[in-house]
Amino acid sequence: MSTNSARRAAIQAITTYKAGEPSFNFSETSPADIFGRNVFSDRVMRERLPKAVYQSLHKTITLGERMDPSIADTVAAVMKDWAIEKGATHFTHVFYPLTGQTAEKHDSFIMPDGRGGVIAEFSGSMLIRGEPDASSFPSGGLRSTFEARGYTAWDVTSPAYIMENPNGTFLCIPTMFLSWTGVALDKKTPLLRSGQAVNREAQRVLALFNVHTDLPIVSYAGLEQEYFLVDHNFNFARQDLQIAGRTLFGAQPSKGQEFSDQYFGVIPQRVLSCMMEVERELYKLAVPVRTRHNEVAPSQYEIAPLFEPSNLAIDHNHLIMAALRNVAKRYGLKCLLHEKPFAGINGSGKHVNYSLGNAELGSLFDPGETPHANAKFLVFCAAMIRAVHKYGGLLRATVASASNDHRLGAHEAPPAIMSIFLGDQLTEVFEAFRAGRSGDTGETSRRRINVGVDTLPPLPTDPGDRNRTSPMAFTGNRFEFRALGSSQSAASSVTALNAMMADSLGFAADWIERELGEGTPFNEAVQSFIRHVIDEHSAVIFNGDGYSEVWHKEARRRGLPDLRNTPEALPELTKPEVVDLYERQGILHKAELAARQDIYLDQYCKTVHTEALLVLRLARTVIFPAAMRYQGELALTAARMHDIGVEYKTVTLDEVTGYLRTLQDTVAELDATVRAVEERSERMQVATGYCNEVLPLMQKIRDAADALELRVPDDLWALPNYEEILFDK
Ligand code: ADP
Ligand code: MG
Repeated sequence: MSTNSARRAAIQAITTYKAGEPSFNFSETSPADIFGRNVFSDRVMRERLPKAVYQSLHKTITLGERMDPSIADTVAAVMKDWAIEKGATHFTHVFYPLTGQTAEKHDSFIMPDGRGGVIAEFSGSMLIRGEPDASSFPSGGLRSTFEARGYTAWDVTSPAYIMENPNGTFLCIPTMFLSWTGVALDKKTPLLRSGQAVNREAQRVLALFNVHTDLPIVSYAGLEQEYFLVDHNFNFARQDLQIAGRTLFGAQPSKGQEFSDQYFGVIPQRVLSCMMEVERELYKLAVPVRTRHNEVAPSQYEIAPLFEPSNLAIDHNHLIMAALRNVAKRYGLKCLLHEKPFAGINGSGKHVNYSLGNAELGSLFDPGETPHANAKFLVFCAAMIRAVHKYGGLLRATVASASNDHRLGAHEAPPAIMSIFLGDQLTEVFEAFRAGRSGDTGETSRRRINVGVDTLPPLPTDPGDRNRTSPMAFTGNRFEFRALGSSQSAASSVTALNAMMADSLGFAADWIERELGEGTPFNEAVQSFIRHVIDEHSAVIFNGDGYSEVWHKEARRRGLPDLRNTPEALPELTKPEVVDLYERQGILHKAELAARQDIYLDQYCKTVHTEALLVLRLARTVIFPAAMRYQGELALTAARMHDIGVEYKTVTLDEVTGYLRTLQDTVAELDATVRAVEERSERMQVATGYCNEVLPLMQKIRDAADALELRVPDDLWALPNYEEILFDK
């Protein structure tokens, strides 16, 4: 009974689980009471800052104007007093290094006053700039190349907030992380730069349409976060879950998700309690959480806030992930943000609902009701079509990771081929432009459309079929990008979307300006731009089933890249057209892109390396011994039977022996292969080795182990199985 004691204990713990005291008095506080309580919000600033300082800061935040450094000391003093009233003893600059994590280093407000006591100090310069000793963060060689010590710089557009701990609170200041020479070492800096680029080019297009707005055009993001919750005892009983965040072994359960009884099902009480507390924690931070529900796979859930300007939405998403992890612990649960914690059932994504616009204009992807509004909509939509066709490889690269590789292209996530779903109606509208030019071709049902004259047929806000198989779907007033993985930051994808859109909108503005210069009437100039996009870029439009084999063939015929894994996808980051795009739009330089590619590739290698070591360890120390014991029992029984003259079929013994042999041989092969791959000098060779040699061997070991799991007596099996992990709560 010793081998499986952890497993038994885990199951035992679930049957005796009792909810602890919630950290909130839910009946006495309402969401409205606590919403934004811990945020240095616009309201707090207006109440507390001198009027002129508030107005100056407000302008910087809403209009994106450069901040007046002379106000920093005042803001810092007011922020400090506010934080101390909220119990804060420390402050930290929060930043987002290329590891994809959130990073923080706390400093105390307290300074000795020289007379044996202390005073609280927090100056403008401490607010604006920090210098964490960040030498351990990956820089892809940038730091040595550029002599670049890292510093953090206040991001005024994302408000400061207070984080609570039972033993005290601390002030968090969202920041960028750069080198002294201006090299971006994080994910926020390029995101903010891309926001400026897309505003600049969108305004050019709007000006041509005679649309003027006092506010900048910003990109919005609504990030739907999927996750799993499992009892934490199972996590402790399985090293693969604990360390890799996913199960590297595990036979398919007798019942999976095939009954579709999970999706939107009644949320289990313990899980719902946890969700409610997560939401309360997030309300305090002004994260506008809106929806919660059961997802398709057993033990899988989703949380989604209302969309916000993308920089804020992404910072908030980091807080959501942190809250999920932390609060889950209080309920004896483990939150798994991995893209594919369990084989054979759905993995988790993070859908990025993306739009451009502002409070005055609404979404620029909204068709609108007048012919003029429609024409503007069509230009923005056409710009997206061109963007995804030209830079689909870049977009693909922004979602590349070892964990997301297991999800993309499986039967629940969009394929690795980047295409756009427009829905039949909108596709027909665009097709009508082609028909319009080539004259009557007998396709009589197709109405010709004249820009600025016709009103589009009213497009349903949610065009027909949702088509979950498309990586990029038009959903009425926004595009939904579905390839991002649940554990990833949305910053790289939104940066790419902004950059691509800036490029396409700039191209549109150039095109229309040129036509106008040649005397073409405005509507015809717009029409010719749309026609150009349809002629050149309609290959990227695909409304069919993205999961089908047919589409893979068809996509190849259309020349769309099918980058199946991370080592294939990451080189896109340094393709000449991507370097050109990012340099032209002032987002990242070639060296910065190369550094990113190198860091992400390194992360890929380290992830698979860790997993391979776990496979070797678990196969050798847990699975092999259990199966050997059973083999011994079977052999002994067969021998005894033989001794007493009973004819005995050794089918099970032969099977177990066969799988054990495969296990043993493949473990040796994997061990040798990992060593050989690690020896290679080029990072890309190492990565492709992990992808094409190591991962298949890990799978082969898993297949043998999973077959053994279904044969070895249950009391010898130490690892909690899928049935237990997924259905017990
Ligand atoms: P579903 O995709 O399941 O229908 P919802 O309708 O709840 O989910 O929307 C998903 C996300 O899209 C939410 O975060 C929502 O706020 C966001 N969203 C809605 N309109 C826009 C928009 N114009 N731009 C960006 N995100 C948006
Ligand atoms: Mg959605």
